[in-house]
Amino acid sequence: MQQAIVDVKGLNKSFGSHLVLKDIDLTVAPSQVVVIIGPSGSGKSTLLRCLNGLETAEGGTAVVCGHLVVEAGRMMPEPLLDALRAEVGMVFQSFNLFPHLNVLDNITLAPTCLRGVPRKTAQEQGLRLLRKVGLEHKARDYPGTLSGGQKQRVAIARALAMEPKVMLFDEPTSALDPELVGEVLQVMKDLAAEGMTMLIVTHEMGFAREVADVVVVMDHGSIVESGPPSGIFTSPREARTRSFLQTML
Ligand code: ADP
Ligand code: MG
Repeated sequence: MQQAIVDVKGLNKSFGSHLVLKDIDLTVAPSQVVVIIGPSGSGKSTLLRCLNGLETAEGGTAVVCGHLVVEAGRMMPEPLLDALRAEVGMVFQSFNLFPHLNVLDNITLAPTCLRGVPRKTAQEQGLRLLRKVGLEHKARDYPGTLSGGQKQRVAIARALAMEPKVMLFDEPTSALDPELVGEVLQVMKDLAAEGMTMLIVTHEMGFAREVADVVVVMDHGSIVESGPPSGIFTSPREARTRSFLQTML
């Protein structure tokens, strides 16, 4: 088997005395799409944030794109995290675009500043990515003039501009008006079809069912169960999964 892109074993994380991740084991293989579901406060965001060093874990091991982010509870030193983060694309609920830069400049900033990609090359690549998310015509517009769905598609294009080995999505459609959710999910489906490795936190159960290779159910900092969507959605083994899915109907 090819080396996993994300390989987490026995990960523990607390805020003060509150243990929010409890012995998490998680593997994401190349080109796999893993969707994490679970109630609010169950630790989904914290788990994603640990994977690119935005949070400090205290126990366990996490290897992401070959980088030892957490080793026996010790975090990778901060200077090494930059190399990791260059390989891990992250998309949040809030789009975090730079409001004073136009769409194309939002996308070319990281490749030109962090990677030293020549501006012209970065712009060509940026336009290609904008075409992919259906927004080439917005290249010179400013984020403030875009809809939420368009902003999130730009945020995805911006993350892709660093040519990440894995994309982490934390509720990318939760802040959107319902009519704009579909266009963002479609971009994510296209990425999945192209073989992008993705770890996605979402409440979009239809999307999870359709796109996930593996669905992971979290509750109170633990993984309750995981498996292919057909099993999780049609015959969940755990009562906590059943009651969570009830709330999503
Ligand atoms: P989810 O994304 O599943 O809603 P989170 O990972 O955001 O859950 O939160 C898990 C738990 O950790 C919650 O109880 C939350 O209140 C707590 N938590 C998250 N971030 C912090 C923080 N920076 N300081 C203290 N507690 C936090
Ligand atoms: Mg969250």
